[in-house]
Amino acid sequence: MSSKTNTDCCADGHDGPALKLSEALSRILAAVKPVAGCETLAVRSALGRLLADDVVSKINVPSHTNSAMDGYAFIGADLPAAGETRLTVIGTSAAGRPFAGEVVPGQCVRIMTGAPMPVGADTVVMQENVTRDGDTAIVGAGEKAGQHVRQAGEDIAAGSVALSAGTHLMPAEIGILGSLGVGEVSVRRRPRVAFFSTGDELRSVGEPLGEGQIYDSNRYTIFSMLTRLGVDALDMGVIRDDRDAVAQAFAKAAAEADAIVTSGGVSVGDADYVAETLERTGTVGFWKVAMKPGRPLAFGRIGDALFFGLPGNPNSVMATFYQLVQPALQALAGMPDPGPPLMMRAVSSSALRKKPGRREFQRGVLSRSDDGRLIVHKTGHQGSGVLSSMAAANCFIVLPEDSGPVSEGDQVTVQPFAAFV
Ligand code: AMP
Ligand code: MG
Repeated sequence: MSSKTNTDCCADGHDGPALKLSEALSRILAAVKPVAGCETLAVRSALGRLLADDVVSKINVPSHTNSAMDGYAFIGADLPAAGETRLTVIGTSAAGRPFAGEVVPGQCVRIMTGAPMPVGADTVVMQENVTRDGDTAIVGAGEKAGQHVRQAGEDIAAGSVALSAGTHLMPAEIGILGSLGVGEVSVRRRPRVAFFSTGDELRSVGEPLGEGQIYDSNRYTIFSMLTRLGVDALDMGVIRDDRDAVAQAFAKAAAEADAIVTSGGVSVGDADYVAETLERTGTVGFWKVAMKPGRPLAFGRIGDALFFGLPGNPNSVMATFYQLVQPALQALAGMPDPGPPLMMRAVSSSALRKKPGRREFQRGVLSRSDDGRLIVHKTGHQGSGVLSSMAAANCFIVLPEDSGPVSEGDQVTVQPFAAFV
């Protein structure tokens, strides 16, 4: 291995050129097989999970033909070609309290939204278009036969597949399961993801800081990103910069998890054992991605577990996690293809430094100007170790590989953090 002082994007210490981010992501996704196995959960606990099997409805939704309006139910054929219609009100149908009788020509029933349509009736007129004269309802002109009625099963028919295997259960799907009266569902198991930090300088919360030591922040951001993704996160602590300690941690993590995420120790400094250990004990997919922050970054496999060796710098960790690890873990969970990342164009109100070569993810704040345009400005110091620039941001300003510096007033692409889980 050569020196890591070379700053050229395509030769930074490990063999081979840096991969374009899009190529790195395709290679990662090609290596991911969704986890097998499922578990049964109560419907509300299944929020965010993926259905293991089709859910076939045992009932019609709605279960009965009902009114879409507060008004009067009657027989559409009673409507004349022109002019008003006079009908005799014979009762009331309320939601949960249907009218027991039958409607015959010339009659109507007062009806509320969601109430079952009385036998015989097929049309509803909204109450705003009716005048009452005692027991007589006078329907204004212009109503149409069949209107304002919701047919039984028009949302979901009994016997049909209401939600298919693989569906991501979001609030609407949880609501559908509720509407079917389903109490429990079978969902795919969550991927188990082991994570640890490497570095002799790192101390954990609660420990005193000695000379030259820093608190470990990456384990906290990684824990938080994994938790929001809904995977089962396994915290393996801080591992010393020691060949055997790193190798042992790798073996333990690979035995217990479907994927491993580490931070630090991935370059080729004297104390960087992550890359070396992956090379010795696992399979290397690639070493370097042409992104900033975020290089170097190791991807590969240890045993059956996917391995992501993220850089040590806190912003690099977050950028590489969101761009590469998150899509990989979603695929590992069996999530359907999320489609293209949510990006938009905005006017940069800051000048931005950028050299052609790597795809950059600068931290920005996206807002709307008084005249309705999206504008973005960069947040403070953009150093890869400055986590406060990430905390102050609400988006990445995404500068493509071939772009140079950005002047104030130029259009740029932004990726709102809302795009990430
Ligand atoms: P490394 O890749 O191990 O050389 O680390 C690069 C930089 O990131 C160094 O300044 C480290 O001190 C810092 N760093 C590494 N791991 C962590 C961590 N877990 N939390 C905060 N900073 C870290
Ligand atoms: Mg280190």
